[in-house]
Amino acid sequence: MKGCSQPHTGQPEPRVGIFWLVDKRLVIDTTALSEASKYGDFSIYEGDHITLWAEMEKRGEVPRDTDYEEHPRGRVNFNTRTQQFTLYADRCILRKKDVVTKLMHVMHLPSDTALSTDEHYRCYRCLAGNRQ
Ligand SMILES: [Zn+2]
Repeated sequence: MKGCSQPHTGQPEPRVGIFWLVDKRLVIDTTALSEASKYGDFSIYEGDHITLWAEMEKRGEVPRDTDYEEHPRGRVNFNTRTQQFTLYADRCILRKKDVVTKLMHVMHLPSDTALSTDEHYRCYRCLAGNRQ
């Protein structure tokens, strides 16, 4: 099989990206770490939630009658200074250990990946319940 351009290791390369939890389904778009954009000390996925949601909506991959902010969402960045990944996500996602585990598995993230909430990543349910 061809297609993997990693000569140095058999391990799959970790990825950065953005994601949603739409009902029980993970919707993810990612970039290999080596192809990620540089932003200060960070390697990041270049896209944003608003644009990607609009594209997926057009392709019929996500429900058309809902807003990108409505579903719990998050992002994975890599800090090139500390050499650590951080997974920022809505509380509704971080609370679900099986979803976090699946995300880390799909994106090949190391076990020392930091988990964090982010004030931007609050779904309608979070915003309605708790405006800390
Ligand atoms: Zn939420």
